[in-house]
Amino acid sequence: MELWEMNQEEGQPAVTRDRRDFLKVCTMAAAAVGLSGAVAEQMAEAAAKGLKPSVIWLHFQECTGCTESLLRTSHPDLAELILSLVSLDYHETLFAAAGHQAEAALKKAMVDNAGKYVLVIEGAIPEKEGGIYCKIGGRTAVEIVNEVAAKAGAIIAIGSCASWGGIPSADPNPTGATGAPMILKGKTVVTIPGCPANPHNLLGVVLQYAVLGTLPKLDDKGRPLFAYGRTIHEHCPRRAHFDAGRFVQKFGDEAHRQGFCLYKTGCKGPATHANCSTLHFAEVIDAWPIGIGHPCFGCTEQTLAFRKPLHDTVDIDRPTPPDTYAPIKSPQGNVGAVATGTLGLIAGALLGAGYMASKKLGADEEQPTGKEK
Ligand code: SF4
Repeated sequence: MELWEMNQEEGQPAVTRDRRDFLKVCTMAAAAVGLSGAVAEQMAEAAAKGLKPSVIWLHFQECTGCTESLLRTSHPDLAELILSLVSLDYHETLFAAAGHQAEAALKKAMVDNAGKYVLVIEGAIPEKEGGIYCKIGGRTAVEIVNEVAAKAGAIIAIGSCASWGGIPSADPNPTGATGAPMILKGKTVVTIPGCPANPHNLLGVVLQYAVLGTLPKLDDKGRPLFAYGRTIHEHCPRRAHFDAGRFVQKFGDEAHRQGFCLYKTGCKGPATHANCSTLHFAEVIDAWPIGIGHPCFGCTEQTLAFRKPLHDTVDIDRPTPPDTYAPIKSPQGNVGAVATGTLGLIAGALLGAGYMASKKLGADEEQPTGKEK
């Protein structure tokens, strides 16, 4: 059943009303990630005709938090939206099938959609000792990911574990855990790091690939610029407190209760590229670390998450606004008499021209149209 076929018992023409709602949700989701409403409409039309991109979703070393974050969305129901827009042909967490039946479904999806399917990888991939620390159906994660990626149209690593190794790769990294881009060298892998990743960002990439056949612009770590182009600090709701020098000194103090800046308690926002401050989790306002009074942990950055101690401060890379504002009294140079005279002439000519133009406009307005009595 599609999203727009639901709620028929409420007595309204379900197809018309709910399809409109579906389009609205698509448009909102597209706008949130910088795509036009036309893209969302095309996607919804294609989905209505059954033309949905095939998605194969693999799980390796992880906690399934990225899938959970997708399923726990509330309003608009992003999970239903994504599941209405794509054909999720293989997903180990959501599958009813198991064992040989599941293996057969994976093979079939790969054959039926060869060269076109979207491969989503969740979880790190262990390389140590031939990859024995993660095996599914007797095969290592390295073997599986190489085989499935070979015929994929687009590859997305969702979450920090799949992007570079995440928490399984934290020191001393006993299994040699690493990310999909490190295994699939030479292939374009879109990374959507985060612990968990924000499902809106996955939707943005899938929407663009499915409708336009292209991938979004990426940074040097494979992260879409629409989501990771700026730091948390650049659009943090507590930024005014940072600029004014109002800091929380310890958890629970008066400054913490007042919602002041969390930099001194170890906030990694100034060095963390992500859009959590504008796209909160589970569609709940303020459902993100800083929103609930905790410093940003830097979960989208390989050099910070699970490496830099939680309460250590980070360097501020970019100058703060007080260093860059233009001075209120900017230095004035001396203006010569000739320059003043020339400026006066130009200003006079402009004023004169303006006066004549306004007179002409006024005269035009007063022209008889021939229809007056
Ligand atoms: Fe926000 Fe953290 Fe920057 Fe303070 S340091 S303004 S809490 S991102």
